[in-house]
Amino acid sequence: MNQHNRQNTPVLDSYWMPFTANRQFKAAPRLLASAEGMHYTSVDGRKILDGTAGLWCVNAGHGRRQIAAAVERQLSTLDFAPSFQMGHPIAFDFAERLAEIAPGGADGKLDRVFFTGSGSESVDTALKIAVAYQRSIGQGTRTRLIGRERGYHGVGFGGISVGGLVNNRRVFPLIPGTDHLRHTHDLAKNAFVKGQPEHGAELADDLERLVALHGAETIAACIVEPVAGSTGVLIPPKGYLERLRKICTAHGILLIFDEVITGFGRLGASFATDYFGVTPDLVTTAKGLTNGAIPMGAVFASRKVHDALMHGPEGQIELFHGYTYSGHPAACAAGIATLDIYRDEDLLTRAAALQDDWHEAMHSLKGLPHIADIRTIGLIAGIELTSREGAPGARAYDVFVDCFERGLLIRVTGDIIAFSPPLIAEKSHIEDIVSILGDALKRAQ
Ligand code: PMP
Repeated sequence: MNQHNRQNTPVLDSYWMPFTANRQFKAAPRLLASAEGMHYTSVDGRKILDGTAGLWCVNAGHGRRQIAAAVERQLSTLDFAPSFQMGHPIAFDFAERLAEIAPGGADGKLDRVFFTGSGSESVDTALKIAVAYQRSIGQGTRTRLIGRERGYHGVGFGGISVGGLVNNRRVFPLIPGTDHLRHTHDLAKNAFVKGQPEHGAELADDLERLVALHGAETIAACIVEPVAGSTGVLIPPKGYLERLRKICTAHGILLIFDEVITGFGRLGASFATDYFGVTPDLVTTAKGLTNGAIPMGAVFASRKVHDALMHGPEGQIELFHGYTYSGHPAACAAGIATLDIYRDEDLLTRAAALQDDWHEAMHSLKGLPHIADIRTIGLIAGIELTSREGAPGARAYDVFVDCFERGLLIRVTGDIIAFSPPLIAEKSHIEDIVSILGDALKRAQ
């Protein structure tokens, strides 16, 4: 039975919503019914401009028939096939397509691809590959994993352990042997910057501190988001990632870039790895991999890492790890169709061409009430608000609700507003974002 009441609102009882204040939401739900291009339509028929590409994932915009058709074709041909000790062509085809655009420069492409079902799974997969790699080269004491304060790496036990968000960590047991670099956010030195801030490269030396504290021979890998997204758009200071790469190399520590947000065009390059010109050993991805249409993630590994693990005894499984849905045929079909769209519509070039207008527009909001900082890179923006006294996050949440009511979807985390519009955005969409957000800020208490 279709359990909808007169306003098109479904019964809300049974669904336990993720990362949501369930009781607050269910008292005043915001429900999206359909989507096309740059817009959602709410269940009450209002058009909502998507300022966040869904959850940083719908890079080619909504309602892509090409992806739907590819998935439909694949499901009616081969709906599912076991991925352990069995294969199906489309997973190999997709991996080859990804290898063509794999992150990495002259020092080697990361063109070996392990499929997962999400960003969280990609992160835990990369952490496990790193530890397994170290063991395979005779460095079995290297099991420690280094993350960074204010890092977000999904919600697996590995991801929350290397992650740096207290709310995601405090209730749960964490995996032993992790530690964290300091974060790079410094409003006193770096407020209202377009692109990479000038100050803070030396914060990468924090890894030297952890090496001195724990011993390099205990450390397997260091994971960072090249641009931290979910924790409020923290952009790496100039020189920081380069320095981190050098320190990792000097101490035999693998460097992992978590590109779940930055992968697939967000910065106007295929990967942040290429944008910043710093090549890690492993890259985690998801989201834009399939334009958000079908859940999927992928870990890109260097040949050095991959090949080291391929040297065990013949006939033995090289890595005791994988998911029922690794390389799912429907997800691979969605992924290939997505890569076709990125290529055929030249969406990365488009994103790169749009970024100056984007930065100008976002920074034009400076001077409006409550704004403590505006930071932009690629087609990302973070707008940090001052906190309302005694109620951190409340002001940004009010702005979020106000924007939604006036037809704009934004994302808030604490007192920071994040934007990541689909790469198909036009200047007029950017103007709409600025205008609706500007009005909401003027109204905010
Ligand atoms: N890593 C990063 C950098 C992310 O931004 C996210 C999701 N926002 C994840 C991992 C987790 O991805 P998922 O929600 O698909 O598990």
